[in-house]
Amino acid sequence: MTETTPSTHFIRNIIEDDLKSGKHTHIATRFPPEPNGYLHVGHAKSICLNFGLAQEYRGQCNLRFDDTNPTTESTEYVESIKDAVHWLGFDWEERLYHASDYFQQLYEYAVFLIKQGKAYVCSLTQDEIREYRGTLKQPGKDSPYRNRSVEENLDLFERMKNGEFPDGKHVLRAKIDMASPNINMRDPAIYRIRNAHHHRTGDDWRIYPMYDFTHCLSDAIEGITHSLCTLEFEDHRPLYDWVLDECKTESHPQQIEFSRLNLKYTITSKRKLNRLVEENHVTGWNDPRMPTIVGMRRRGYTSASLRNFCERVGISKSEYFAEMTLLEDCVREDLDATAPRRMCVLHPLKVVITNYPEGKTEDLTVKNHPKDPEMGTRSVPFSKVVYIEQEDFREDPPKKYHRLSPNREVRLRNAYVIRCDEVIKDPDTQEIVELRCTYFPETKGGQPLAEGKKVKGIIHWVSAEHANSIEVRLYDRLFSVPNPNEDKERDFTEFLNPNSLEVLTEAKAEPSLKTASPEVRYQFERQGYFTLDSDSTPDHFVFNRIVTLRDSWAKIEQDQQKL
Ligand code: ATP
Ligand code: MG
Repeated sequence: MTETTPSTHFIRNIIEDDLKSGKHTHIATRFPPEPNGYLHVGHAKSICLNFGLAQEYRGQCNLRFDDTNPTTESTEYVESIKDAVHWLGFDWEERLYHASDYFQQLYEYAVFLIKQGKAYVCSLTQDEIREYRGTLKQPGKDSPYRNRSVEENLDLFERMKNGEFPDGKHVLRAKIDMASPNINMRDPAIYRIRNAHHHRTGDDWRIYPMYDFTHCLSDAIEGITHSLCTLEFEDHRPLYDWVLDECKTESHPQQIEFSRLNLKYTITSKRKLNRLVEENHVTGWNDPRMPTIVGMRRRGYTSASLRNFCERVGISKSEYFAEMTLLEDCVREDLDATAPRRMCVLHPLKVVITNYPEGKTEDLTVKNHPKDPEMGTRSVPFSKVVYIEQEDFREDPPKKYHRLSPNREVRLRNAYVIRCDEVIKDPDTQEIVELRCTYFPETKGGQPLAEGKKVKGIIHWVSAEHANSIEVRLYDRLFSVPNPNEDKERDFTEFLNPNSLEVLTEAKAEPSLKTASPEVRYQFERQGYFTLDSDSTPDHFVFNRIVTLRDSWAKIEQDQQKL
């Protein structure tokens, strides 16, 4: 697929200016996930941005786990995040870091701040701290512990580190300004006591640094030049800068904010996605309906289409909800070019061709791709009994219905024209169970009817004797409203789409799909793009519909005319 050429945006402009002015000769970015869940499409945007810019300007991008919260993190998430970055096509090379790698250095920076009189141990309870903090309209009040001596602070901080106190007994706070209009600057906590086991540092630490203290210092330690983050950190930028200035770090990265990616009809919050998993609304983080990278990958999205999508949504500072169709179009575009074509009937209706010899099989040679001869051909068997889609037959056809109906003809794709002579119904239910048809031998391979009559409709089919019975899973939007978070009175799970999954157990695929392999995406003609699901076993194939086709009708007719 031709990837969209990078469009310019304000972050690129800043980088270019910095390179031109000589502020930097080399750029360094990082992707800093917290390993507390699986990554989602929003993270994909951040990965593409950080790794993409580094690639483009021949700089470096680090992968850094922001693992300062020992109780919510796990190695399962760490591994899945590494996998996701690689799958998206990026590599951190040898630069895999963890905030926890810096715990000792961060501790020393904290001691330095105490010594400079820029941090103090506060013994107010959490509730009291909140009360003292003030509001957007009211300034905060100084903590009674604000003027503890450097010696006392050093002693208490060391004892916090040594595990002498229970959780919440004290915190270390930056001494900035309780009257600042920016609440983040009102003596924020920078260390808290957590008597918890950490998945990497074990029981070494009883105190853990807070995000706002850790992140900027980790950036500085790694020599990051441009620290790109989402807009909710805009108000934290003064604190980011304050910490680096007061700690007198050698380098001072620039924090730049951009707006989060939101996608309509889904959610992009690890916490909420976690709830969908925990409450069994989906089968797991990798449920193909999930906007997670593992989910989209299992569904059959390609990494090229996701990268393309991230490029097309662009980078800006305004709140934005991307259309699901933009993502789906990126997927279609990629797959249209690369997916081999196959025939599969999702809702089968039996058709008996009365004038076709009993027991005969013809092996038809069929192109794998209408536009790409390099994708070769395959053999598709034709015989006396075939399946067509139930919806490709109407007993009482509306106007302009070009498919099969009584006494009318239709072309079986790549095979013959047939005419429907008789409709057989279940005597009890009146349901149509079989059609009796005549085929026209002269129409093989797209030839016209001898009588010259034009046949407009072309439908797909599968030989019954040779068909491969498969399960097919069709997906719809996970939520039934564009923004499930909009209604603050109601929980987002109330807006789940009850019809987001449809399972078809009777689908009939052409025999070549018996050798379908997992990472291959196929186009089932007129039905969309499909790939094998990981639930498949050697004798039970399960296919996911990745995405539907856009305008299958027009296209197939065009292609057929070219044959
Ligand atoms: P969540 O709210 O889903 O937990 P998060 O921001 O807490 O997301 P992190 O693991 O902290 O998740 O994020 C890692 C990086 O990905 C951060 O730089 C963050 O800004 C970025 N990121 C997260 N969500 C989005 C999004 N929707 N769009 C763009 N970037 C995002
Ligand atoms: Mg977070």
